[in-house]
Amino acid sequence: MRSRAPTPDFGWTERTAAAQRTVVPFMARAAAIAVWLAFASLPAHAQTSPAADALGTQLLKRLTALAHDSMEGRGAGTPGGARGRAYIEQELRALGVAPIGASYQVPVRVRARPGADTLGANVVARVPGRLGTGPALVLSAHHDHLGVRGDSVYNGADDDASGSVALLSLAEAFKRQPLDHDVIFAWFEAEESGMLGSRAFVEKPPVPVEQIAVNVNLDMVSRHEGGGTLWVAGTSHYPFLLSIAESAAAKATVPVRFGHDTPGGSASDNWTSSSDHASFHRAKIPFLYLGVEDHPDYHKPGDDASKVDPRFFASTVSFAEALVRALDAKLGEVHKSRSVSR
Ligand SMILES: [Zn+2]
Repeated sequence: MRSRAPTPDFGWTERTAAAQRTVVPFMARAAAIAVWLAFASLPAHAQTSPAADALGTQLLKRLTALAHDSMEGRGAGTPGGARGRAYIEQELRALGVAPIGASYQVPVRVRARPGADTLGANVVARVPGRLGTGPALVLSAHHDHLGVRGDSVYNGADDDASGSVALLSLAEAFKRQPLDHDVIFAWFEAEESGMLGSRAFVEKPPVPVEQIAVNVNLDMVSRHEGGGTLWVAGTSHYPFLLSIAESAAAKATVPVRFGHDTPGGSASDNWTSSSDHASFHRAKIPFLYLGVEDHPDYHKPGDDASKVDPRFFASTVSFAEALVRALDAKLGEVHKSRSVSR
Protein backbone atom coordinates (compact mmCIF):
# COMPACT_ATOMS: atom_id res chain seq x y z
CA MET A 1 0.00 0.00 0.00
CA ARG A 2 0.87 3.64 0.31
CA SER A 3 -2.57 4.92 -0.45
CA ARG A 4 -3.49 8.55 -0.13
CA ALA A 5 -5.39 7.90 3.07
CA PRO A 6 -5.80 4.83 5.24
CA THR A 7 -8.29 2.60 3.47
CA PRO A 8 -10.42 -0.17 4.88
CA ASP A 9 -9.34 -3.74 4.29
CA PHE A 10 -9.39 -4.48 0.54
CA GLY A 11 -11.09 -1.18 -0.21
CA TRP A 12 -9.04 -1.18 -3.40
CA THR A 13 -11.37 -3.49 -5.31
CA GLU A 14 -13.91 -0.92 -6.53
CA ARG A 15 -11.25 1.51 -7.71
CA THR A 16 -9.42 -1.29 -9.48
CA ALA A 17 -12.45 -2.72 -11.26
CA ALA A 18 -13.18 0.58 -12.97
CA ALA A 19 -9.59 1.40 -13.79
CA GLN A 20 -8.71 -2.05 -15.12
CA ARG A 21 -11.01 -1.67 -18.11
CA THR A 22 -9.20 1.37 -19.40
CA VAL A 23 -5.66 0.90 -18.23
CA VAL A 24 -4.96 -2.71 -19.12
CA PRO A 25 -5.87 -2.53 -22.84
CA PHE A 26 -3.78 0.61 -23.14
CA MET A 27 -0.83 -1.04 -21.48
CA ALA A 28 -1.16 -4.04 -23.78
CA ARG A 29 -0.93 -1.75 -26.81
CA ALA A 30 1.91 0.17 -25.26
CA ALA A 31 3.89 -2.87 -24.19
CA ALA A 32 6.23 -2.77 -27.16
CA ILE A 33 7.34 0.77 -26.43
CA ALA A 34 7.07 0.69 -22.66
CA VAL A 35 10.79 0.25 -22.11
CA TRP A 36 11.61 2.98 -24.62
CA LEU A 37 9.17 5.33 -22.91
CA ALA A 38 10.67 4.64 -19.52
CA PHE A 39 14.11 5.62 -20.75
CA ALA A 40 12.92 8.55 -22.84
CA SER A 41 11.28 10.14 -19.80
CA LEU A 42 14.18 9.50 -17.46
CA PRO A 43 14.73 12.45 -15.15
CA ALA A 44 17.75 14.52 -16.03
CA HIS A 45 19.20 13.94 -12.58
CA ALA A 46 19.59 10.20 -13.05
CA GLN A 47 23.20 9.49 -13.89
CA THR A 48 24.89 6.49 -15.28
CA SER A 49 28.08 4.92 -14.05
CA PRO A 50 29.30 1.33 -14.11
CA ALA A 51 28.43 0.96 -10.40
CA ALA A 52 24.93 2.43 -10.86
CA ASP A 53 24.35 0.24 -13.93
CA ALA A 54 25.43 -2.86 -12.00
CA LEU A 55 23.12 -1.95 -9.12
CA GLY A 56 20.22 -1.35 -11.53
CA THR A 57 20.78 -4.70 -13.20
CA GLN A 58 20.87 -6.52 -9.86
CA LEU A 59 17.75 -4.71 -8.60
CA LEU A 60 15.78 -5.50 -11.73
CA LYS A 61 16.83 -9.14 -11.69
CA ARG A 62 15.52 -9.57 -8.16
CA LEU A 63 12.45 -7.42 -8.86
CA THR A 64 11.55 -9.60 -11.84
CA ALA A 65 11.83 -12.71 -9.65
CA LEU A 66 9.81 -11.39 -6.70
CA ALA A 67 7.12 -9.75 -8.86
CA HIS A 68 6.85 -12.77 -11.17
CA ASP A 69 3.45 -14.26 -12.00
CA SER A 70 4.55 -17.46 -10.22
CA MET A 71 4.42 -15.54 -6.91
CA GLU A 72 0.70 -15.00 -7.54
CA GLY A 73 0.71 -11.48 -6.21
CA ARG A 74 2.13 -12.54 -2.80
CA GLY A 75 -1.20 -12.37 -1.01
CA ALA A 76 -0.93 -12.68 2.78
CA GLY A 77 -1.43 -16.28 3.85
CA THR A 78 -1.36 -17.65 0.28
CA PRO A 79 1.12 -20.15 -1.22
CA GLY A 80 2.37 -17.31 -3.46
CA GLY A 81 3.04 -15.22 -0.36
CA ALA A 82 5.03 -18.09 1.13
CA ARG A 83 7.06 -18.34 -2.12
CA GLY A 84 7.83 -14.61 -1.87
CA ARG A 85 9.14 -15.05 1.66
CA ALA A 86 11.15 -18.11 0.64
CA TYR A 87 12.75 -16.07 -2.16
CA ILE A 88 13.85 -13.33 0.25
CA GLU A 89 15.19 -15.94 2.68
CA GLN A 90 17.11 -17.68 -0.11
CA GLU A 91 18.73 -14.40 -1.16
CA LEU A 92 19.68 -13.59 2.46
CA ARG A 93 21.34 -16.99 2.83
CA ALA A 94 23.27 -16.44 -0.40
CA LEU A 95 24.45 -13.04 0.90
CA GLY A 96 25.49 -14.54 4.24
CA VAL A 97 23.09 -12.28 6.16
CA ALA A 98 21.89 -14.11 9.26
CA PRO A 99 18.53 -14.12 11.04
CA ILE A 100 18.34 -12.69 14.56
CA GLY A 101 17.00 -15.82 16.21
CA ALA A 102 16.90 -19.37 14.95
CA SER A 103 14.75 -18.59 11.94
CA TYR A 104 14.36 -15.82 9.36
CA GLN A 105 10.60 -16.14 9.41
CA VAL A 106 8.65 -14.89 12.41
CA PRO A 107 5.02 -16.07 12.22
CA VAL A 108 2.28 -13.45 11.92
CA ARG A 109 -1.40 -14.29 12.17
CA VAL A 110 -3.28 -12.86 9.20
CA ARG A 111 -6.99 -12.51 8.62
CA ALA A 112 -8.97 -15.42 7.26
CA ARG A 113 -9.73 -15.14 3.54
CA PRO A 114 -11.16 -17.60 1.06
CA GLY A 115 -8.44 -19.95 -0.17
CA ALA A 116 -5.80 -18.61 2.20
CA ASP A 117 -4.28 -19.72 5.46
CA THR A 118 -4.30 -17.49 8.51
CA LEU A 119 -0.57 -17.85 9.01
CA GLY A 120 1.98 -15.57 7.39
CA ALA A 121 5.36 -14.31 8.55
CA ASN A 122 7.70 -11.37 8.75
CA VAL A 123 11.18 -12.06 7.42
CA VAL A 124 13.78 -10.59 9.77
CA ALA A 125 17.58 -10.48 9.53
CA ARG A 126 20.45 -8.44 10.92
CA VAL A 127 23.74 -7.06 9.68
CA PRO A 128 25.86 -6.46 12.81
CA GLY A 129 27.52 -3.08 13.27
CA ARG A 130 31.20 -2.56 14.10
CA LEU A 131 30.51 -1.27 17.62
CA GLY A 132 28.69 -4.40 18.74
CA THR A 133 26.33 -2.63 21.14
CA GLY A 134 24.10 0.41 21.38
CA PRO A 135 21.15 1.66 19.34
CA ALA A 136 20.03 -0.04 16.14
CA LEU A 137 18.29 0.97 12.92
CA VAL A 138 15.34 -0.89 11.44
CA LEU A 139 15.01 -0.88 7.65
CA SER A 140 11.67 -2.12 6.39
CA ALA A 141 9.56 -2.92 3.37
CA HIS A 142 6.51 -5.16 2.93
CA HIS A 143 6.74 -8.41 0.99
CA ASP A 144 2.99 -8.96 0.57
CA HIS A 145 0.72 -7.55 -2.11
CA LEU A 146 -2.87 -8.05 -3.27
CA GLY A 147 -2.69 -11.59 -4.65
CA VAL A 148 -4.92 -12.80 -7.49
CA ARG A 149 -8.32 -11.25 -8.20
CA GLY A 150 -10.45 -12.79 -10.90
CA ASP A 151 -8.13 -13.43 -13.84
CA SER A 152 -5.62 -10.80 -12.78
CA VAL A 153 -2.38 -11.32 -10.91
CA TYR A 154 -1.43 -8.22 -8.94
CA ASN A 155 2.33 -8.52 -9.09
CA GLY A 156 3.03 -5.43 -7.03
CA ALA A 157 6.44 -4.75 -8.55
CA ASP A 158 6.61 -1.20 -7.25
CA ASP A 159 4.32 -1.95 -4.30
CA ASP A 160 6.34 -3.26 -2.63
CA ALA A 161 8.63 -5.73 -4.32
CA SER A 162 10.70 -2.61 -5.03
CA GLY A 163 11.26 -1.87 -1.34
CA SER A 164 11.82 -5.56 -0.66
CA VAL A 165 14.61 -5.98 -3.22
CA ALA A 166 16.05 -2.58 -2.28
CA LEU A 167 16.52 -3.98 1.24
CA LEU A 168 18.40 -6.98 -0.17
CA SER A 169 20.81 -4.64 -1.99
CA LEU A 170 21.23 -2.56 1.17
CA ALA A 171 21.95 -5.69 3.21
CA GLU A 172 24.59 -6.57 0.63
CA ALA A 173 26.10 -3.07 0.81
CA PHE A 174 26.25 -3.00 4.62
CA LYS A 175 27.69 -6.48 4.72
CA ARG A 176 30.45 -5.33 2.37
CA GLN A 177 31.08 -2.03 4.17
CA PRO A 178 29.62 -2.31 7.68
CA LEU A 179 27.97 0.47 9.64
CA ASP A 180 28.85 1.31 13.23
CA HIS A 181 25.44 0.15 14.47
CA ASP A 182 23.34 -2.95 13.95
CA VAL A 183 20.88 -2.80 11.09
CA ILE A 184 17.77 -4.91 11.45
CA PHE A 185 16.07 -5.74 8.15
CA ALA A 186 12.34 -6.44 8.29
CA TRP A 187 10.20 -7.59 5.39
CA PHE A 188 6.69 -7.23 6.76
CA GLU A 189 3.67 -9.46 6.20
CA ALA A 190 0.14 -8.24 5.47
CA GLU A 191 0.79 -4.54 5.08
CA GLU A 192 -1.96 -4.48 2.48
CA SER A 193 -4.50 -5.79 4.97
CA GLY A 194 -3.91 -3.63 8.01
CA MET A 195 -0.13 -3.52 8.52
CA LEU A 196 -0.36 -6.66 10.61
CA GLY A 197 3.31 -7.59 10.24
CA SER A 198 4.71 -4.27 11.38
CA ARG A 199 2.23 -4.08 14.25
CA ALA A 200 3.35 -7.53 15.43
CA PHE A 201 7.02 -6.55 15.03
CA VAL A 202 6.67 -3.40 17.14
CA GLU A 203 4.62 -5.24 19.77
CA LYS A 204 7.29 -7.92 20.11
CA PRO A 205 10.52 -6.58 18.61
CA PRO A 206 13.58 -8.81 18.22
CA VAL A 207 15.60 -6.35 20.37
CA PRO A 208 14.34 -4.17 23.25
CA VAL A 209 12.13 -1.46 21.76
CA GLU A 210 14.18 1.30 23.47
CA GLN A 211 17.18 0.17 21.41
CA ILE A 212 15.47 0.99 18.09
CA ALA A 213 16.65 4.51 17.26
CA VAL A 214 14.88 4.96 13.93
CA ASN A 215 12.88 3.16 11.25
CA VAL A 216 13.51 3.76 7.55
CA ASN A 217 10.59 2.36 5.55
CA LEU A 218 10.68 1.86 1.77
CA ASP A 219 7.36 1.33 -0.01
CA MET A 220 7.10 2.11 -3.77
CA VAL A 221 10.57 3.33 -4.70
CA SER A 222 10.98 2.32 -8.34
CA ARG A 223 8.66 4.35 -10.63
CA HIS A 224 9.28 7.88 -11.89
CA GLU A 225 6.03 8.65 -13.75
CA GLY A 226 4.79 10.75 -10.85
CA GLY A 227 7.41 13.42 -11.59
CA GLY A 228 10.59 11.51 -10.88
CA THR A 229 10.78 12.75 -7.31
CA LEU A 230 11.59 10.61 -4.32
CA TRP A 231 9.73 11.82 -1.25
CA VAL A 232 11.03 11.62 2.28
CA ALA A 233 8.25 11.82 4.86
CA GLY A 234 8.65 11.99 8.62
CA THR A 235 10.82 15.04 9.27
CA SER A 236 7.85 17.19 10.29
CA HIS A 237 7.24 14.72 13.12
CA TYR A 238 10.93 14.23 13.90
CA PRO A 239 12.68 17.52 12.92
CA PHE A 240 16.01 16.33 14.34
CA LEU A 241 16.24 13.96 11.37
CA LEU A 242 15.98 16.72 8.75
CA SER A 243 19.58 17.94 8.57
CA ILE A 244 20.86 14.36 8.46
CA ALA A 245 18.48 13.49 5.61
CA GLU A 246 19.33 16.73 3.81
CA SER A 247 23.04 15.89 3.89
CA ALA A 248 22.28 12.62 2.06
CA ALA A 249 19.83 14.32 -0.33
CA ALA A 250 22.47 16.88 -1.36
CA LYS A 251 24.50 14.13 -3.01
CA ALA A 252 21.57 12.15 -4.45
CA THR A 253 21.20 11.40 -8.17
CA VAL A 254 17.41 11.53 -7.80
CA PRO A 255 15.44 14.68 -6.89
CA VAL A 256 14.57 14.30 -3.19
CA ARG A 257 11.80 16.29 -1.55
CA PHE A 258 10.60 16.42 2.03
CA GLY A 259 6.89 16.38 2.86
CA HIS A 260 3.73 14.29 2.64
CA ASP A 261 3.69 14.23 6.43
CA THR A 262 1.47 17.18 7.39
CA PRO A 263 -2.29 17.71 7.02
CA GLY A 264 -1.82 20.78 4.75
CA GLY A 265 0.82 22.31 2.50
CA SER A 266 1.84 21.64 -1.09
CA ALA A 267 2.35 17.94 -0.53
CA SER A 268 -1.12 17.78 0.91
CA ASP A 269 -1.57 14.03 0.87
CA ASN A 270 -0.49 13.00 4.31
CA TRP A 271 1.32 9.66 4.15
CA THR A 272 2.02 9.46 7.90
CA SER A 273 -0.38 6.51 8.29
CA SER A 274 -0.03 5.03 4.80
CA SER A 275 2.52 2.28 5.28
CA ASP A 276 4.38 0.29 7.94
CA HIS A 277 6.27 3.28 9.35
CA ALA A 278 2.92 4.14 10.99
CA SER A 279 3.39 1.22 13.40
CA PHE A 280 6.73 2.69 14.51
CA HIS A 281 5.33 6.22 14.70
CA ARG A 282 2.52 4.99 16.96
CA ALA A 283 5.15 3.54 19.30
CA LYS A 284 6.97 6.93 19.20
CA ILE A 285 9.88 5.47 17.27
CA PRO A 286 11.10 8.07 14.76
CA PHE A 287 10.65 7.14 11.11
CA LEU A 288 11.62 8.25 7.65
CA TYR A 289 9.47 6.97 4.83
CA LEU A 290 10.80 6.85 1.26
CA GLY A 291 8.42 6.64 -1.70
CA VAL A 292 7.44 7.99 -5.11
CA GLU A 293 4.20 9.69 -6.11
CA ASP A 294 1.27 7.54 -7.18
CA HIS A 295 1.41 6.29 -10.78
CA PRO A 296 -1.18 4.82 -13.17
CA ASP A 297 -0.42 1.23 -12.11
CA TYR A 298 -0.83 1.85 -8.38
CA HIS A 299 -2.82 -1.12 -6.98
CA LYS A 300 -3.55 -2.37 -10.49
CA PRO A 301 -2.58 -5.57 -12.30
CA GLY A 302 -0.18 -3.54 -14.45
CA ASP A 303 2.27 -2.89 -11.58
CA ASP A 304 4.90 -5.06 -13.27
CA ALA A 305 8.70 -5.21 -13.16
CA SER A 306 8.87 -4.50 -16.90
CA LYS A 307 7.67 -0.93 -16.24
CA VAL A 308 10.60 -0.13 -13.96
CA ASP A 309 13.56 1.83 -15.22
CA PRO A 310 16.63 0.28 -13.56
CA ARG A 311 18.55 3.56 -13.63
CA PHE A 312 15.89 5.43 -11.69
CA PHE A 313 15.50 2.52 -9.27
CA ALA A 314 19.28 2.42 -8.70
CA SER A 315 19.26 6.14 -7.90
CA THR A 316 16.56 5.79 -5.21
CA VAL A 317 18.37 2.83 -3.63
CA SER A 318 21.69 4.69 -3.67
CA PHE A 319 20.01 7.56 -1.86
CA ALA A 320 18.56 5.13 0.68
CA GLU A 321 22.05 3.77 1.32
CA ALA A 322 23.49 7.27 1.76
CA LEU A 323 20.61 8.15 4.09
CA VAL A 324 21.14 5.10 6.28
CA ARG A 325 24.90 5.74 6.42
CA ALA A 326 24.24 9.36 7.44
CA LEU A 327 21.81 8.22 10.15
CA ASP A 328 24.32 5.62 11.35
CA ALA A 329 27.03 8.29 11.69
CA LYS A 330 24.77 10.31 14.00
CA LEU A 331 22.79 7.48 15.57
CA GLY A 332 23.88 8.34 19.09
CA GLU A 333 22.34 11.82 18.76
CA VAL A 334 19.27 10.43 17.00
CA HIS A 335 18.78 7.94 19.80
CA LYS A 336 19.08 10.68 22.43
CA SER A 337 16.58 12.91 20.58
CA ARG A 338 14.24 9.93 20.28
CA SER A 339 14.39 9.36 24.04
CA VAL A 340 13.69 13.05 24.74
CA SER A 341 10.76 13.17 22.30
CA ARG A 342 9.09 10.09 23.77
ZN1 LIG B 1 2.88 -0.74 -0.30
